[in-house]
Amino acid sequence: MILMRQIVPAAITNGTLCRVPAPILTQPEKEEDRSMIVVMQTGSSQADIDAVLERLKEYNLQGHLTIGAERTVVAVVGATIPPTLREELEYCNGVKETVRITQPYKLVSREVRPHDTIVDVRGIKVGGGSTVVIAGPCSVESEAQIMESARVVREAGASMLRGGAFKPRSSPYTFRGLGELGLQLLAQARDETGLPIVTEVMTPTDVELVARYADVLQIGARNMQNYQLLEEVGRTGMPVLLKRGLSATIEEWLLSAEYVIAQGNPNVILCERGIRTFETATRNTMDLNAVALAKRRTHLPVIVDPSHGTGKWYLVPPLALASIAAGADGLIMEVHPDPDRAKSDGGQSLNPENFAALMPKIAAVAAAVRG
Ligand code: PEP
Ligand code: MN
Repeated sequence: MILMRQIVPAAITNGTLCRVPAPILTQPEKEEDRSMIVVMQTGSSQADIDAVLERLKEYNLQGHLTIGAERTVVAVVGATIPPTLREELEYCNGVKETVRITQPYKLVSREVRPHDTIVDVRGIKVGGGSTVVIAGPCSVESEAQIMESARVVREAGASMLRGGAFKPRSSPYTFRGLGELGLQLLAQARDETGLPIVTEVMTPTDVELVARYADVLQIGARNMQNYQLLEEVGRTGMPVLLKRGLSATIEEWLLSAEYVIAQGNPNVILCERGIRTFETATRNTMDLNAVALAKRRTHLPVIVDPSHGTGKWYLVPPLALASIAAGADGLIMEVHPDPDRAKSDGGQSLNPENFAALMPKIAAVAAAVRG
């Protein structure tokens, strides 16, 4: 690689605390230099960090700061990173080292943040060793139905209530949700039971409305790659439950989480909900590999939806337990007071008795695997 650089003393550089000015590049950047983090020395000053951020700005790159107990790191975010930047940054005061990130995602990566992210939903902690159970019907259908659902799931020990007001349905002729009325009913159920509510938002223009009622904004599988929606929920700063797309690779799923976090919103909960495969005996194929791998590659909490993952209520208990055994931080499950009469997904919804019977088993598996 050919590059021209003038070495000049720190005092007469461009005003930062870096000892070398930006080099003049004569060769395009290498593919492998696309991602990196800058690890600051313990005790580095704010001025040192600012100088690094300034230097990144010169290249139209952003630096996302993660201040940890043991180390402060700057994740470099932007389109392309000049190949010489690593070396340049290592000349800066307070920089311990630069580390290339091998994955295309950065802010979600454990390399950037080694410790688990804990998403706080009205005091309920998702991630970091606890097991959350989110339960409720597929759709909010009526006041009686959602109130009854909220009562039974709370009684059995669920920590949050789910229910769709805006439903993404494969057919336009099926029930597509109550819209804002559904949100109001969810808020009423929260008022009575104290359960935070998780509900789906389908379009960027609905985010403001749904955010007024919800505690967690759910991004459905069909919208996992709706990048404008991801950015819009990112801008709210609210907890986001990001379902994996029907045919999305793990990398694509994590890159979608990156979209949310890149807006300054670290409160992302990943949700594995089964993927499409050649198998037709079940609605989807539960990918528990993804749970264990996402836990390893990222610092985000990962929960599992065995209702959509299997499509059959009688497969939900075994797969719920398997998900916890695989390391999931919790579950989201469909529970309906009268599944036979449900307006959507009745066949995969547990009735209150089966849900109540499953809860102590979840606690037992969680205790066994967490030691
Ligand atoms: C749902 O949670 O009811 C739903 C539609 O889920 P998914 O987006 O995973 O299909
Ligand atoms: Mn559903």
